[in-house]
Amino acid sequence: MQSLADLRSFLESPRKIVLFGHRNPDGDAIGSTLGLKRYLDPLGHDVEIIVPSEYPRFLSFLDGVEDVLVFDTHPDNCKSVMKAADLFILMDFNSLERIDKAGEFVATLTDTPRVLIDHHLDPDDDIAQVVVSRPSASSTCELVYTVIKEMGDAENVTPHIAEPLMVGILTDTGGFTYATNAELFRVVGDLFEIGVDNEKLQTEIFNSMTEKQMRLLGHCLANRMELIKEHNAGLITLTKRDYEQFDIRRGDTEGIVNYLLRIEGIDLAAFITEQPNITKLSLRSRGDISVQKMAAEYFKGGGHKNASGGYSHAGLRSTVSRFREALEAGVPVG
Ligand code: 5GP
Ligand code: MN
Repeated sequence: MQSLADLRSFLESPRKIVLFGHRNPDGDAIGSTLGLKRYLDPLGHDVEIIVPSEYPRFLSFLDGVEDVLVFDTHPDNCKSVMKAADLFILMDFNSLERIDKAGEFVATLTDTPRVLIDHHLDPDDDIAQVVVSRPSASSTCELVYTVIKEMGDAENVTPHIAEPLMVGILTDTGGFTYATNAELFRVVGDLFEIGVDNEKLQTEIFNSMTEKQMRLLGHCLANRMELIKEHNAGLITLTKRDYEQFDIRRGDTEGIVNYLLRIEGIDLAAFITEQPNITKLSLRSRGDISVQKMAAEYFKGGGHKNASGGYSHAGLRSTVSRFREALEAGVPVG
């Protein structure tokens, strides 16, 4: 398999297909895999979704999301599904490392063809035989619609398929704030015509914080925020103790980093957290400032120009020092 045309003919017979989304799956990872599954199921394919770790609670309103297989909790089941598959589609990530142990297992199944559909910069060489990598796309969800359209099948996109795609577009663009372009709005225009309930989705996504999350946000802003004004930067850190005290679970910290960019004069934001085995960073920036370069150079990470992440094996304090060093060295642009 070498092209989208090959993929199209491959899909003319019923296939067993596994769709993969990245660790800590977000609205785009879940939206794109679920949207593509909803498109492929009625064509007679047998489709499973595998992600390394749990998806955030706010996505549970999407029906069928409860059938997503989580590798961390069901490795054996995931492995047998993977062994039986005719095709792997890797979605919303650019390196098998982003799906951890599932990626190691994918790499051993060399006879199974792989397709990549993703919008992150610089996909790994040999990640897939068919590579649809378009960093200009707002989201993988936008790209799923574009690919279906390019395969000449836009008329089979139902409201049921459009809904999860709209979810990933809304979450990855922060409600049409980042990574927008004319093509995105044309796709969204199509999705509106097909029939998505924008107001319902906006509410499910952006107005669904728990009391705990709201109080944690208050704690971060009041007690854990530091501004480095000479570099137009800000950071928020959370310690293991904070995790215990606030009973922080996966997803509870989603979006906190963005609040730093609401401060006048702050163009670069870091959210740095002490995890059981690593220190994790979420980086955000405005305009030409590339946190992607910073993440790649200093924190073994990557992502997009204005939204990236990475990690360090050093402790919280050393990682904060390293972040300061990165700022001193000069904020990368590009
Ligand atoms: P977040 O800060 O929301 O976790 O991630 C922001 C962006 O950076 C996402 O597009 C995500 O894919 C990417 N990203 C987050 N963590 C990592 C990481 O450890 N490695 C790489 N390569 N990308 C990451
Ligand atoms: Mn994405």
